[in-house]
Amino acid sequence: MLVLMVVQMFTVGRFFTNCYVVGCEQTREAIIIDPGFDNRFEAEEIFKFIDENFSTLKFIVNTHGHPDHTCGNEMVKEKFRVPILIHEYDAYMLGESGKNIAEFFGFESSSPPADTLLHNGDLVRFGKIILKIMHTPGHSRGSISLLGEREVFTGDILFAGSIGRTDFPESSELDMKLSLRKLANLPNHFVVYPGHGPMTTIGEEKRGNSFLQRL
Ligand SMILES: [Zn+2]
Ligand SMILES: [Zn+2]
Repeated sequence: MLVLMVVQMFTVGRFFTNCYVVGCEQTREAIIIDPGFDNRFEAEEIFKFIDENFSTLKFIVNTHGHPDHTCGNEMVKEKFRVPILIHEYDAYMLGESGKNIAEFFGFESSSPPADTLLHNGDLVRFGKIILKIMHTPGHSRGSISLLGEREVFTGDILFAGSIGRTDFPESSELDMKLSLRKLANLPNHFVVYPGHGPMTTIGEEKRGNSFLQRL
């Protein structure tokens, strides 16, 4: 039987970050990816959506540790009492040590520390849905993409028509190339849910995104 996945995108915060609520239609369990909201109004709208559509929120997943993707972690955790999942290499950006990177962005993330460290190949399960963790470094060392059956959440690696920045201290252009190559190898019909900007597909990006043409 086909498992139906619900994906709701909210664009939040001063960097227009895409926060996703992803849920299983059958079991009504959901997760939140990149709660990048920095104010109560945005948080309340998303919490209302979760309460109205799902029975349980299971995890917070951060695609990487930058504050525009993690600054709402604390509000989500306070309300839903759920663990924060992030790749082991970016976990240092949360909690007390996150203050350094927050200064670089000009605002503080104040996220609680990570609860579970993710690695390449790990599976995130909620209801009947399984998302596989793909380690896709380049923008940051611990950037991940979350791979479903016909979709991928790419954080700040791949955008519609563009890619994430590689000028941060922990960025790597070589890693970025390798990560983009991994993503370009996915089937063309895969829907891409990026960390910023509109959704797209792998096929569309392979055709129209110049960064994928010079890998
Ligand atoms: Zn970022
Ligand atoms: Zn970002």
